[in-house]
Amino acid sequence: MTREVNYYTGFINFTFFYQMDIGENIENIRKLLPHGVKLVAVSKYKSIETIKEAWDAGQTVFGENKVWELVEKAALLPGNIEWHFIGHLQTNKVKPLLPVVSMIQSVDSVRLLGEINKEASKIKKIIPCLLQFHIATESTKFGLSIEEAENMLKSDEFKNMQFVRIDGVMGMATFTDNIEHIRMEFNNLRNIFNILREQYFREAANFREISMGMSDDFPLAIECGSTIIRVGTAIFGGR
Ligand SMILES: *Cc1c(COP(=O)(O)O)cnc(C)c1O
Repeated sequence: MTREVNYYTGFINFTFFYQMDIGENIENIRKLLPHGVKLVAVSKYKSIETIKEAWDAGQTVFGENKVWELVEKAALLPGNIEWHFIGHLQTNKVKPLLPVVSMIQSVDSVRLLGEINKEASKIKKIIPCLLQFHIATESTKFGLSIEEAENMLKSDEFKNMQFVRIDGVMGMATFTDNIEHIRMEFNNLRNIFNILREQYFREAANFREISMGMSDDFPLAIECGSTIIRVGTAIFGGR
């Protein structure tokens, strides 16, 4: 059984078949990735056995959006998996997450970043983070505005945070079939990234990630400059 998805981005026009085989899906997605673009396999709601199949196919980076789900899975799966947190993170759940997480992609407030820094300092672990921006027209999606981010980056509070490292930005496009609208939102995120790099991270070699693109729009995201794509359905099938 296959599910056919047509991608048309203006430049890229191809058909992608989701196979029943997880390894094959990963293989097919990898073929589309330019050098330097990282694939995060979004394994939320997926079982340990299912994640193992992806691991056996050579996938080492996984994304989860619930703290306890990530923590429980990390305990049962190989220790060298890179776990990325991609969901809305409540400050009271930061502490259990930090020992196992490799990157928090969804930093959407100063308060949250402060809490991550505080807990990270207790375990002496520097936590790579992405700033999540609100780029969609939908009001439901979390994220900072550029003003909020700039206020944060200018603050002394931020300058004193020794245990968080800002590696770039993350965003989710509006759920729509309108390619041009999605393209505009992806370009907007890339512009935000460029502004922040220019103004605040000129000397920071780590500030280089733009996390955007999911199952239905990752080819377009890559075209718009994505460096990290977060893909669930196109690897694991529908939820
Ligand atoms: C679920 C999720 C994804 C993956 O979505 P798919 O459409 O299944 O590829 C990516 N990013 C975030 C933040 C998610 O919550």
